[in-house]
Amino acid sequence: MRFLAVVIVVSFAAAQEPPACRKCESTGVQPCKDHKGDAMALEKAVVRCSVAAACKRCLGLLVVDCPACARDDIVEDLADRSFAMSRWLEQRHEAVGRFCAEPASIRYLETAHADLSWSLDGAIVDKKKLDAHQRMHLYGERVEATRRRFCDVLGLTDADFPVASDDASPRLALHMFGAMRDMRELSPRLTGIGAMGTNIKLTGGIPVWCMVADDRAMKDDVDVHRSVVHNVVHLLLSNMLPARELGPTGEGWVDEGLAHWFEIAIDGRCSAYCVEEAVMLPGTNWHNGAYRTGIRQLADAGKLRRFVESYTKNSDELDLEENAHAFAWVDWLIATQGGAKLADFVRRLKRKEPQRDAMQASFGFGPLAIDERFAAWVVATYPKQEPGR
Ligand SMILES: [Zn+2]
Ligand SMILES: [Zn+2]
Ligand SMILES: [Zn+2]
Ligand SMILES: [Zn+2]
Repeated sequence: MRFLAVVIVVSFAAAQEPPACRKCESTGVQPCKDHKGDAMALEKAVVRCSVAAACKRCLGLLVVDCPACARDDIVEDLADRSFAMSRWLEQRHEAVGRFCAEPASIRYLETAHADLSWSLDGAIVDKKKLDAHQRMHLYGERVEATRRRFCDVLGLTDADFPVASDDASPRLALHMFGAMRDMRELSPRLTGIGAMGTNIKLTGGIPVWCMVADDRAMKDDVDVHRSVVHNVVHLLLSNMLPARELGPTGEGWVDEGLAHWFEIAIDGRCSAYCVEEAVMLPGTNWHNGAYRTGIRQLADAGKLRRFVESYTKNSDELDLEENAHAFAWVDWLIATQGGAKLADFVRRLKRKEPQRDAMQASFGFGPLAIDERFAAWVVATYPKQEPGR
C-alpha cells in the first residue's frame, strides 16, 4: 500500500509541472515591450503606478502572458492582478482624484510603505531634467529611503509600527498638490483638519500629509525634498508605537529636532518649519539653514540658549533659533548616546512619562546637566565656518 501512495504523489507532481518554454524560460510571462530600460526599472521599484497602469499592453503589470505557451494559470493570475489594479485606481479616484480641478492631472504611486498622490510638475534635480512622472517616482524612493534611515538610526523594525486596522495604519499617505485650489479642497477631506495652509499633517495612528508646492518657500527641488523628509519624519515619529504625536504636548524640541536631523543630511541645511504660517514670511530662515555653523557661533559667543528654557515648549512655540537648538540637542544625543537610547527616550515620552524622569532613565542625567556638556561638544565638533560649497 505504501508503494502505491508514493506512485500517486509522483505522478500528481509530474502533471503539475508547467510546459517547458524557451520564449519565457517557462515563467509563462514576457516583459511588456512598452516599458524598456530605465522606465522598466522605475516601475519595478514600486508596487503600483497609475502612469504604468495606463499602458494598453500590460495595464501596469509590466508583463504579458507568453503567447508561445499560453498557460491558463498565468492568464487567470494576470486577470486577477489587473482587476486589483483597476480597483486601486478607482479607490484613488474616489478618495482624491474626483475632488481635483483636473482629475486627469493627478498621478498615484504605491511603494512598499507609502501611498502618494502627485500633481507637481517636473523639475531639474542634480542637473537632470525629470518629467512629472519621473519626479513622482523619485519622491517615492526618497520617502522609502527616509523610512529606512529612520529605522536604522533609531534601531526600529516593522514591529515598532502599528498593525493595519480601522484606526491605525503603518503606511504613510502623502498628497503633494501642484495647485492651491486642490490643496484647499482636499486637505480637509484627507486629514479631517479644517485649518488652511500649504502644509497639513494628521499624525499618530493614521499618518497623512498634504502639501502644495509653494514657490515662495520652495524655490528649488531641494527645498521640496527637505520639506518631504522633515514631514515624513514627523509622521514616522508619531506613528511609531505607542502611536502619539509629541509636538503639541510639550516635547516640541524632540519632534522638531529629529525632523531637522534627517532633513539636514540632504545638503547640510534646514528650511522646513512647523510654525504658524501667518507669523513667518515664506523663505525666512535662521543662518540660512546652516544650523551647525550657526550654533557653533552662538557657543563661541557664549550665547547658547539654556535647555530648561525651551524643553517643555510645543513645536509651534519654538522660534527659529530654538528650532536650530532642538536640532543640535538631538544631534548631540544621537552622537553621544546613540539612536537606540534616543528611541527609548521617545517611547517613554509617548507613554507620558515626565521628560525629567524619562531622560534620567534613558540617558542617566537630567535636564540641568545638559547645557555644559552640550556646549563643550559643540565647540569640539561643529565647524566655525560653513564648509565651502
Ligand atoms: Zn512561454
Ligand atoms: Zn510610473
Ligand atoms: Zn506595459
Ligand atoms: Zn516640523
